[in-house]
Amino acid sequence: MTRPLVVLGATGSIGRQTLEVADNLELQVIALAARDPSDELAEIARRYPQAKIVVAGGSGDEHRGFTSTVGREVLFGSENVLHVAASPGAIVVNGIVGAAGLRATLAALESGNRVALANKESLVAGGPVVRSALARHGGELLPVDSEHSALHQCLAGESMETVARLVLTASGGPFRGRDRESLKEVTPEEALRHPTWEMGRRISVDSATMFNKGLEIIEAHYLFGLDYDRIEVVVHPQSIVHGAVAFIDGSWKAHLGHPDMRIPIQYALTAPTRVRGVADPFTLSGSSLVFEEPDRENFPAIDIAYRAGRAGGSAPAAMNAADEIAVEAFLQGRLGFLGISEVVERTIDETEWRQLNTVEDVLEADAEARSIASELVAGAC
Ligand code: MG
Repeated sequence: MTRPLVVLGATGSIGRQTLEVADNLELQVIALAARDPSDELAEIARRYPQAKIVVAGGSGDEHRGFTSTVGREVLFGSENVLHVAASPGAIVVNGIVGAAGLRATLAALESGNRVALANKESLVAGGPVVRSALARHGGELLPVDSEHSALHQCLAGESMETVARLVLTASGGPFRGRDRESLKEVTPEEALRHPTWEMGRRISVDSATMFNKGLEIIEAHYLFGLDYDRIEVVVHPQSIVHGAVAFIDGSWKAHLGHPDMRIPIQYALTAPTRVRGVADPFTLSGSSLVFEEPDRENFPAIDIAYRAGRAGGSAPAAMNAADEIAVEAFLQGRLGFLGISEVVERTIDETEWRQLNTVEDVLEADAEARSIASELVAGAC
């Protein structure tokens, strides 16, 4: 396995863990991209002297300072992110956070590359557009999200007609078992403390509201092409079983292991083969595994996601955009915890539904939902 690696979102949680996996497998890293010209990116650039360095944002002054710190050519601007995503024959790890990741996914797929996808928005917001790019250009989409990697592995060698249901597991987040009254007072610090996974800020809050699972339901729909009636969520606080598939003959397959993102990252790079990885060995003895129904009353995100998913078109894009705005407002203390799902639900209703045929359609729906969500947030304070 010697395909060159492009890492988008190199300084984020997925990016850093990808580089750890890549070092262990001695993969060739040909390009590293990040949004900001940060010290952290400069440090990574020094560790990979052969890699192209791309910075999507920043001012002219910051660019000059960054270039002199790095001491070699740096490519600036989001067009260059797309350019490296299209590197011939590459595996592109897309760890970009937010809707900006969609264009990179499309650029990579249009070049026939494999995309190891950690950017949920590509499928949640742009599902129909990504599906059509996949069908037209022969690229490959491998999920990095642990639940979808688990399902992908359970489905290997199976025919989709024999699948009765896909089961996504959810940890339930830090507030599992709490009632509505106590959720009112939740602070950003509490929401950022996740019991089993170490993750970025938005995804930690999304895990506390369960919007993360909502996004993942939609992601699963577009990845595996199953209707929403055959995708279900079960709460599993230990995060040992990452996903399961029920088949029509009554058999089940489940995927187990440590909650360690380096495992699904590595599988997305090496699939369909496996090689020795960096995760600690896992043993079953000593683990108790518990599964329970999600609390749909106190965590309405799951039902909001099913409704948006079934509405299709721009509704999931509106949900995603509104959630991003609402989570940011919550983290800045401008919106209460329970306000997140209220803002998202109202934004989906108020955003004009449209069909998504192009990336422009997706971005239009995204922008409209963002502005509606921002108004709702402003009205809520
Ligand atoms: Mg996940």
